[in-house]
Amino acid sequence: MHKIVLFYKYLDIQDPENEMKEQRKICQSLNLKGRLIIASEGLNGTFEGEPENISKYCQYLRAKKGYEDIHLKFSEGTGKSFPKLSIKVRKEIVSAHLGSKDLNPTQITGKYITAQQLHEWIHSDKEFYIVDMRNDYEHSVGHFAGSILPAFSNFRDLDKILPQIEHLKDKTVVTVCTGGVRCEKASGFLVNNDFRDVYQLFGGIVTYMEQFPNQDFKGKLYVFDQRVTMGFNTEDPKHEMIGKCKKCGSLSEGFVNCTFNECHKHFICCNNCRDGENIAYCDDECRELDLRKIESMNFALSLNNTYIDLYNALTKS
Ligand SMILES: [Zn+2]
Ligand SMILES: [Zn+2]
Repeated sequence: MHKIVLFYKYLDIQDPENEMKEQRKICQSLNLKGRLIIASEGLNGTFEGEPENISKYCQYLRAKKGYEDIHLKFSEGTGKSFPKLSIKVRKEIVSAHLGSKDLNPTQITGKYITAQQLHEWIHSDKEFYIVDMRNDYEHSVGHFAGSILPAFSNFRDLDKILPQIEHLKDKTVVTVCTGGVRCEKASGFLVNNDFRDVYQLFGGIVTYMEQFPNQDFKGKLYVFDQRVTMGFNTEDPKHEMIGKCKKCGSLSEGFVNCTFNECHKHFICCNNCRDGENIAYCDDECRELDLRKIESMNFALSLNNTYIDLYNALTKS
C-alpha cells in the first residue's frame, strides 16, 4: 500500500537552497519519491511513500514554523507513481510567467470557497461561473460540468486569457485547478484586473472529488505523475468516462504524446487509432512529416553503409 500527498504553500522562504538540503535529507530518510519545487515565494510538492512514512513527513512539515495550517491532500498511490525523488530550487513554484504583472498570493488572491460551499452553490440557483485554470488536455479527461476553459494550452499563457473571460468581470467567478496552487496566482491575477467577485476552490479539484466523488466533476482528474489520471470510487456506476479519442471521438482515457518529436502534443488516443503500441500521431501532417524523416534517415544510413563498403573494398585491394 502506498500513499500520495499533494501540498503547496506560499510563504517567504529566506534560504531556498538550505530548505532544499533539509527537505532532501528528510525525504531520503523516509524513502519518499516524487517532486518538490522550492522558491523564495514558497513550495509546491507531491510525494509517494509507505503510509507511515508519508504521515511522518506530514508531521515534520506541520511542525515547521509557518506551515502549521498547510493543507494536505491525500490519494492512493501505486508504489511507482514517481521514478525518483527530485527536489529543486526554482524562481516560481508554478511557472506563471507574469513578469512585471507577477503578484504575491499572500497579499492578493481570490477568496476561498470550500468544496462544501461550492457543492451547495452548484445545487442552488446562484449565478456564478467556474473557470478552469488547467491545460486543455487536463480538462479533456475530466472537468466540472459547464465550466469554462479559456483556450490556453499552458499555464504560462495566463496573461493571454483575459480577453476570453472579460465578459465575466461583473459576475461571480470560481477558479479551479488540480490542488489549488495555480489558482492562488490566477485568481489574484483576475482580482488585479478588476474582476469584482473572484473565488478559488480551496484544496482544488482533488479535494472536491474526494468529498463528492462522481458528482459535479465529471470524468477523471489528470495528475502529473505516472498514474496520469486518478479518481475516487471509480468503480461506482455513477462514475462517467468523458475523455474522448482526439481522432475518432470514442470514449477513452489513454494519453499519448505525438510520435513526431517536433510536435510531441499530449492528447487522448484510443487503441484503434494508434499506429502501434505508444505510437500515435496527433494528425496526418505529423505522421507524414515523421515518416518522411524516417525515410531520409534510412536513406542517409544506407548511403553511409555504401561508403563503408566502398572504403573497405578499396583499402583491401
Ligand atoms: Zn480513436
Ligand atoms: Zn503532432
